[in-house]
Amino acid sequence: MNTVDIAIVGAGFGGIGAAITLKRAGFGDFLVFEQANHVGGTWRANTYPGIACDVPSHLYSFSFALNPDWSDTFSGGQEIWDYLSACVDRFGIRPHLRLGHPVHEMAWDDREQRWRLETAHGVFSARVVINATGPLSDPSIPDIPGLDSFRGTTFHSARWRHDLDLTGRRVAVVGTGASAVQFIPRIAPQVGSLTVFQRTAPWVIPRRSRPISRVERTIYRTVPGAQRLVRTALYWSREALAIGFLHPRLNKRAQALALAHLRRQVPDPVLRAKLTPTYVMGCKRVLLSNDYYPALQRPNVDLVVERIREVVPDGIVTVDGVTHPADIIIFGTGFHVTDPPVRHHVRGRGGQTLAEAWTPTMRAYLGTMVAGFPNFFLLLGPNTGLGHTSVVLMMESQLHQVVAALRHMRRTGLAAIEPDPVAQQRFAEFLDAKMANTVWTSGGCTSWYLDANGHNATIWPGYATGFRLRLRRFRPADYRPVPVLEEV
Ligand SMILES: Cc1cc2nc3c(=O)[nH]c(=O)nc-3n(C[C@H](O)[C@H](O)[C@H](O)COP(=O)(O)OP(=O)(O)OC[C@H]3O[C@@H](n4cnc5c(N)ncnc54)[C@H](O)[C@@H]3O)c2cc1C
Repeated sequence: MNTVDIAIVGAGFGGIGAAITLKRAGFGDFLVFEQANHVGGTWRANTYPGIACDVPSHLYSFSFALNPDWSDTFSGGQEIWDYLSACVDRFGIRPHLRLGHPVHEMAWDDREQRWRLETAHGVFSARVVINATGPLSDPSIPDIPGLDSFRGTTFHSARWRHDLDLTGRRVAVVGTGASAVQFIPRIAPQVGSLTVFQRTAPWVIPRRSRPISRVERTIYRTVPGAQRLVRTALYWSREALAIGFLHPRLNKRAQALALAHLRRQVPDPVLRAKLTPTYVMGCKRVLLSNDYYPALQRPNVDLVVERIREVVPDGIVTVDGVTHPADIIIFGTGFHVTDPPVRHHVRGRGGQTLAEAWTPTMRAYLGTMVAGFPNFFLLLGPNTGLGHTSVVLMMESQLHQVVAALRHMRRTGLAAIEPDPVAQQRFAEFLDAKMANTVWTSGGCTSWYLDANGHNATIWPGYATGFRLRLRRFRPADYRPVPVLEEV
């Protein structure tokens, strides 16, 4: 069996950030297992036309690796992917990578007090696991009756079929979320016809992006502190946006702005009515676009708001009995966020799976550790998502806590720790109380933030700063050493 001190699973922002943080903190014995053949995670997998981040690039990057060369205030996917690859090289992470290594099972050995990882290339034993498999990495395709009977081609936007020429084809897009509003304007001029199936109208605000000039980039590269100053200003302006999510009655101005954007871009009152959201802004992810509404008004584009009843060999039938012919169906239907497949493949103390521990809902102490799962850290675990700013900030806060835990174990000679169930429960109650009056619970929508029971197990109900302050200190009393299994 191969042995390593720390196993990181996943090589997206989280896994790469973890690797760099460990190395900088003096924990050099680690491997990063990635199922794909390249690093990058989200930014490797999602290559659809128009892909870009929707928080400013200066914030959507590591605080310890600012990039003075961003070409746009909201960078495209390829540039973010290149940035992550460059970080891997700059911080000497490449020798630690095990690409093409899917981890099939992770099980805690009570006797050895170590994790056993079954990968496609053999078994590894690790003292600590940092799980960075990503909250948005498993595409979700709705279970529509008749889908198997479709004669054309179907794919999810996170697995874009670049080999497929859409020119002149009849294309149906299911879903109008963050990815769809980015790729619809790009494919609309190319396809023969485009039918967009909308379940709920999203809130769309103008996208205030612009190219970053050569002069600005030179300043960032040469003037010490200049880029950090810009980042700090952006950080606080984004933090201010959370106010509307936490206190929905203060959302009125932002909603008025979005409705004005809709009025300006969509003169037709019938179409505008279909595109007017019926819930409070922020309840679902707010989308940024200047070209989505114009794309929907092209003569070859049709917005359908009737529910889908079934798929037939040559199209999609809605509940009103109308058949919408299609050669290709593209799903922009999001990811398995509250039901990540990885939960079935992680076994903690006594063989309990994460799926069992997370019934009826996902819980984790500080969104990072789960009672019964020793030395197992989750990056972007339950309730660490954000609607207003970069999740990289959340990951970095978590990594601070991970390093503090590792140092605590080293200092005290503990082989394994896990959160005290009482501390975990206390944290869960704190989250539920904070969540109560936010837009996600009172905004009148159903969103991917909610699990099957309607519980919000995804979003951090606060400011990124609040999370950071909470995770800055390591509280030994909230953790407990793991007992060794007695020989019988
Ligand atoms: C289209 C899109 C746009 C986004 N835009 C933004 C944005 O603008 N701002 C923002 O804050 N967030 C955004 N997000 C959220 C984004 O997912 C996170 O910001 C971030 O990229 C997550 O990084 P991660 O490392 O946690 O997960 P990922 O990037 O998903 O990486 C997880 C990695 O784990 C690997 N993996 C999974 N299971 C296994 C296994 N069993 N064995 C081995 N490897 C495995 C996967 O192959 C993947 O490479 C966006 C998400 C999407 C999908």
